[in-house]
Amino acid sequence: MPNVPEKRNLSVIIVGAGTGGLCLAHGLKRAGIAVNVFERDRTRKDGLQGFRVGIDPDGCRALDANLPPALYETFLATCAISPQWFNMLSEHYGELLSLKPSPPRDPRHGERSVSRMTLRQVLLTGLEDVTHFDKVFSRYEQRADGKVEAFFEDGSSAVADVLVAADGSNSRIRRQYLPQAGMDDTLIRSIGGKVPATPETLALLTPKIHRGVTLILAPRGFGGILHVMEFPWDEAGAPKHGIGATDADLIAQWPGLRFDNSRDYISWGIWAAADKFPEDLRTMNGEALLALSRRLTATWHPDWRKLLAASDPNSVFPVVIRTSVPIEPWAPSNVTLLGDAIHTMTPGRGVGANTALRDAALLTRHLQAVQEGRSGLVAAIGAYEAEMRRYSAEAVERSRRQMDGRTAIHRPVIGRVLLACQRTAMRLVNVTPPLKRKMLRSLEALRGGERKAEGPA
Ligand SMILES: Cc1cc2nc3c(=O)[nH]c(=O)nc-3n(C[C@H](O)[C@H](O)[C@H](O)COP(=O)(O)OP(=O)(O)OC[C@H]3O[C@@H](n4cnc5c(N)ncnc54)[C@H](O)[C@@H]3O)c2cc1C
Repeated sequence: MPNVPEKRNLSVIIVGAGTGGLCLAHGLKRAGIAVNVFERDRTRKDGLQGFRVGIDPDGCRALDANLPPALYETFLATCAISPQWFNMLSEHYGELLSLKPSPPRDPRHGERSVSRMTLRQVLLTGLEDVTHFDKVFSRYEQRADGKVEAFFEDGSSAVADVLVAADGSNSRIRRQYLPQAGMDDTLIRSIGGKVPATPETLALLTPKIHRGVTLILAPRGFGGILHVMEFPWDEAGAPKHGIGATDADLIAQWPGLRFDNSRDYISWGIWAAADKFPEDLRTMNGEALLALSRRLTATWHPDWRKLLAASDPNSVFPVVIRTSVPIEPWAPSNVTLLGDAIHTMTPGRGVGANTALRDAALLTRHLQAVQEGRSGLVAAIGAYEAEMRRYSAEAVERSRRQMDGRTAIHRPVIGRVLLACQRTAMRLVNVTPPLKRKMLRSLEALRGGERKAEGPA
């Protein structure tokens, strides 16, 4: 007789209540799998400010698959206005290329702009009973009875059939499970900040910048980015007039709004090779980081400079851009990983969170197959990991190509020549509609515009 797996009552521990871990927890809960999430933050409001995360069709599809239907509607209702333009400008705001994304094939799975804080509050909604805060994971043991035990710094522990590392780029589980999995410094440094969106600050933006995602290609390998985040609620947190009655109702009833600090803002970022920044960037305070950002972009368009001058120094933060180094496939077991814990990528393509969400949906489908007796546990985890390694390796590699301090664009002479070539090529595409359409199609394909859900049915 072939060895047919039996139905199981699976139990799963997830370490990390971030984007990927919480999306997985929703999927497992919906599939009737016992799940517990352990998070080091002390409360659901800790550690997060309202910075933008771009959720693409892959990310939307994963959220739609895993979240209870009403919560996915709340996610859609709490997004900021979606970008209508993708702009590339010179540092003097000269247009190099401006693309207008076509309407998504499926309007429920398009490009969305969400605040990190809002997304976390949406994802925590409905998981209050299974999320344990103030639990710092320290190590795990794979036991002789086939279970896995996770230990926490407060001396407590938890036991389950499966342990999932969703504990981000410094994952302690990865360090114990796959010590060979290293991280590389890309030698790119970045600074980000926010400006409240007011009539005065919005007047510093062209209509396309106001309604788009804007990248700035500047000399010496410097890059910049601008996003405008306008939410469906006002300064006091009440649903704004003018949004649809159904959305206004959803937002008003959503308990997560009480914990959300997101208000309309313009977010900006700059980056360049590490040699353009001081060594102590990571320990500089907001005032010093803002002063540095203003110095580094002192020759940019006057409206950019005015935006930075209006920024709140408390909102300014440094980022050291690191990336995972690909490793050989490993033998599957009852410990597995998702998101940044296994594939940290540069923000160059804006797909780190989307890939974490894709992992969460894929792992849910595989674990559901185990629960229903259609697959064995280790085989299911092996199948998930093989697929996850395939698409995440590509995303890590493509993201690195966008942000790598070792590439020629950061060198003094050749960098200037390359920038001139890039700008000329973009201007050419900008005035050639068939090239523009082709570029848009390839961008949309990369962000999952036409992909179907992966994994077993
Ligand atoms: C500047 C910037 C902009 C970005 N913009 C985008 C974007 O537009 N789109 C996009 O798709 N991606 C973006 N990303 C990437 C994205 O933020 C990450 O890829 C995503 O958050 C990864 O999700 P995760 O669930 O794997 O990890 P995280 O969201 O990092 O969650 C990990 C969780 O684990 C917890 N944790 C860690 N250690 C422990 C421990 N020992 N015990 C218990 N809990 C622990 C943490 O507190 C955290 O809550 C951006 C990244 C940066 C730096």
